Amino acid sequence: MPITPFHLGPGALVKAAAPRHFSFTVFAFSQGLIDLEPIGFFIFTGAPIHAYLHTYLGALPVFLVSWWAGRPVGEWALRVWNAWLSPEQARWLGYQPKISTKAAGIGAFIGAYSHVAIDSIMHGDLEPFAPFSPASPWLHLVSLETLHLACVAAGIIAGLFVLRWLELNGRSSVTGNALKGEGRKGRSA
Ligand SMILES: [Zn+2]
Repeated sequence: MPITPFHLGPGALVKAAAPRHFSFTVFAFSQGLIDLEPIGFFIFTGAPIHAYLHTYLGALPVFLVSWWAGRPVGEWALRVWNAWLSPEQARWLGYQPKISTKAAGIGAFIGAYSHVAIDSIMHGDLEPFAPFSPASPWLHLVSLETLHLACVAAGIIAGLFVLRWLELNGRSSVTGNALKGEGRKGRSA
């Protein structure tokens, strides 16, 4: 880690920059999936080890599984999210419960590989190039506090992008049309 939620900040920023080409939902799925590794090791051994999935080679199955499974899970999560919203809330917060294959692939790829890159800055047990090399050239490149602050700042900047987007596009463009997948400006996840 940094614990999974911190990874969401950079992902939100990518989403703000390329909303139609990047699935934040699948990105988030990949973050949870890859961190099952240290969580599982912690439960069974007492040590949150980053040995296999937290490598650039191990990120490959994380990417592929997230691409394959993250899309239907993400679409289901979006349908649940939309169902929770009142009609008025849906005007602002509703999302199309449809994720394209391309956006899912990009979200899964950036999710898996950015996770390893970010985690390799802070975990001494993580060898990103294993099994080919024990090198960890980015370890302690910045302090833990700086890393966490950067992740939070990315999330805040992404939030500002979203507010600006809502201001520019107004309420109507994210209303029912978005949920029905009919509007050109309807948001995708
Ligand atoms: Zn991790």
